[in-house]
Amino acid sequence: MKKIAFIGLGHMGEPMARNLLKNGSRLIVSDINQEKLKVFKGFGAIVAEKNFMSEQPEIIITMLPSGKEVRQIYESYIFPHLKSHQLLVDCSTIDVETTRQLALKAQDKKAYMIDAPVSGGVAGAEAGTLTFMVGGNTQAIEQVKPILLQMGKNIIHVGETGNGQAVKICNNMMLAIQMISVAEGFALAEKLNLPASALFEVASKASGQCWSLTQYCPEPNLVPNSPANKNFAPGFTTAMMLKDLRLSQQTAQNVGTATPLGAMATMLYTTHYNLAGGQLDFSSIIRLIKGQFGQQVQ
Ligand code: NAD
Repeated sequence: MKKIAFIGLGHMGEPMARNLLKNGSRLIVSDINQEKLKVFKGFGAIVAEKNFMSEQPEIIITMLPSGKEVRQIYESYIFPHLKSHQLLVDCSTIDVETTRQLALKAQDKKAYMIDAPVSGGVAGAEAGTLTFMVGGNTQAIEQVKPILLQMGKNIIHVGETGNGQAVKICNNMMLAIQMISVAEGFALAEKLNLPASALFEVASKASGQCWSLTQYCPEPNLVPNSPANKNFAPGFTTAMMLKDLRLSQQTAQNVGTATPLGAMATMLYTTHYNLAGGQLDFSSIIRLIKGQFGQQVQ
């Protein structure tokens, strides 16, 4: 059994780390939240006194809020002690540039870093059915695959380090735009006195069909398990979607690509965040589109 360090025991990290423990991994955990550490100690994980690197893990997994925390952990704790046989796996969603810079620094120490952001949300993390979009060296990925399979179902190798993050932000930008388009369809239908169920019945079999409509419909009670059915309890929060949209826009600017609908989606999600807060599921954007905050989007 490999010795694994897991840093970041939040909404996603906690169930992911618990799945590793369930499968018998030797786990060292770290988080700034002391309560989480106590809980994991109770589960049999090792809590390092100061630096998890002193326990000499073979694989170091990070699941942190943003690039800032990932960089801080790498610079302060990992790089000063990193040995060539240790493998770095960042599962957080962060910017491509930070990932590629950290991977180069790891390479200077003859170690590999792979990026493995996930989709599937908290439910997928709990069920161990996440999809990992993995970028990096093929041999390193083969080595880490059995561990990722303890937390997920699909491991998709998408090229060099950083490509996992690139896939993630492109996909989520597409998703946000798609969700807004579905919300606009239902908003217009409502004003035309067309029942939502009639639009759904046709569009879900016609050319308007997409995942946001058929799997995650923002109108309640048209598909099973949609957050709309439970008053937009998340799911994937507005705050998380806005974070990913901002990453997409920052990256688009860095590489000089026009993403006009991505820019518009970012603007709409920013307004939604300001009016509704970040904690509702991102599909609640339909409330903004329908003018339910007393503010009609132009
Ligand atoms: P979270 O905020 O719930 O968890 C982050 C954890 O990191 C917390 O336990 C926090 O205490 C810890 N932490 C923060 N700074 C730290 C530091 N300097 N050192 C050690 N620990 C630190 O976030 P989350 O929802 O678990 O998301 C984690 C990552 O996964 C994010 O990058 C997010 O974009 C991505 N993601 C989230 C979801 C989702 O549905 N929540 C889905 C896919 C991807």
